Amino acid sequence: MYDVIIIGLGAMGSAAVAEIAARGHKVLGLEAFQPAHKLSSSHGDSRIIRLGYHEDPAYVPLLQRAYRNWARMERRRQTNLLSKVGVLQIGKPGSELIGGMLASCAEYGLAHEILDQAEMADRYPAYRLAGDEIGVFDPEGGYIRPEAAIWGNLKLATADGAHIHIGERVTRIERGATIMVRSPQASYETRKVIVATGAWISELVPELAARAPPIKQVVAWYQPGDGFLAQPERMPCFLSDEGEDGTWFGFPQIGVDGVKIGKHCHFFEPIDPDQANPPVTHADMDLLDAFAARRMPEVATTRIKAVTCRYTMLPGENFLIDLLPADPRVIVCSACSGHGFKFASVIGEILADLALDGGTTLPIAPFTFDRHMVG
Ligand SMILES: Cc1cc2nc3c(=O)[nH]c(=O)nc-3n(C[C@H](O)[C@H](O)[C@H](O)COP(=O)(O)OP(=O)(O)OC[C@H]3O[C@@H](n4cnc5c(N)ncnc54)[C@H](O)[C@@H]3O)c2cc1C
Repeated sequence: MYDVIIIGLGAMGSAAVAEIAARGHKVLGLEAFQPAHKLSSSHGDSRIIRLGYHEDPAYVPLLQRAYRNWARMERRRQTNLLSKVGVLQIGKPGSELIGGMLASCAEYGLAHEILDQAEMADRYPAYRLAGDEIGVFDPEGGYIRPEAAIWGNLKLATADGAHIHIGERVTRIERGATIMVRSPQASYETRKVIVATGAWISELVPELAARAPPIKQVVAWYQPGDGFLAQPERMPCFLSDEGEDGTWFGFPQIGVDGVKIGKHCHFFEPIDPDQANPPVTHADMDLLDAFAARRMPEVATTRIKAVTCRYTMLPGENFLIDLLPADPRVIVCSACSGHGFKFASVIGEILADLALDGGTTLPIAPFTFDRHMVG
């Protein structure tokens, strides 16, 4: 009999299994493929973290806790997972991105710098600004290494006594007097179960069918024509509000593959999670290349690689982290909507609280079933 079984060991599940094992409980984690595998949402070298959150100031307290937890994990693993190279948010002064970020900064007194075009050209010449655009620099921002974070959590969990099964896909959760979790290999009995299966969430939580579509996301890496400008000191991570053309994001040269860019939600094309990722098309590459040439020709100069990844989108680009209304022994976590990774360290803590204590003091009211999914 386990205290908790966690299904899916990606960003969220790996954080939860580490937290529950650290609290001394008997826990099993089951992963269908490999952690951070190519069909998951958590591969590709880097994920942006930022504190001045344009989406909603309500996320800021969770982010502050997430930073604390990432640092705690770095200390335990004696490794570096988070690099604070800063994040630049680029757009017109009244745009959603700039307005939203400044609202978060104002509400929580967060450090930031507003840079006009001359200051941008002087400090961060990699970006070409247009019209009256400005940059707002978030000094707490930077990037996390997703693969290292996930594997690090699994190492911590194992050291604390968790059982980890890789390559075992759960096919059924049976809710009786206790909960039975079944895979083709075996069946396991548990008091609580956490479902954190990313793009596959609706398979084990049919309540989410048609509410949490996985979509195709494409990112590409470019070799810089001017490698000096592409270094993190002169080119922080960025978000750019392109008006009708959506929000774009990118990273400086932090590995051999070079500068990485993507468009948030890309073409919003639904995909079947059980099929191989759809290939990168000419239309995908044309979209990314045009942005690279227009916005950062000196640093995103020659495309060398493009890959498909998966977003799982919830209404309002929000998260769902809650007890299943029909059975509170089942905890459901769908925290992607294209911006979930940075929260994984605090979501692990929240999932542990929900599974072990039945509730949490962390502010998750916006992420409940009744708030977003039912009705
Ligand atoms: C290209 C891209 C860029 C992104 N950029 C950012 C960013 O800059 N900043 C940010 O904060 N977020 C970003 N995100 C979002 C972030 O990466 C996701 O929110 C996060 O990875 C989701 O983690 P997850 O644990 O929900 O899913 P996953 O990491 O996909 O994990 C789910 C796991 O469940 C397993 N599984 C599924 N079904 C079963 C089953 N039946 N039995 C057992 N195991 C199962 C899967 O194999 C998988 O490993 C980005 C996402 C993408 C795709």
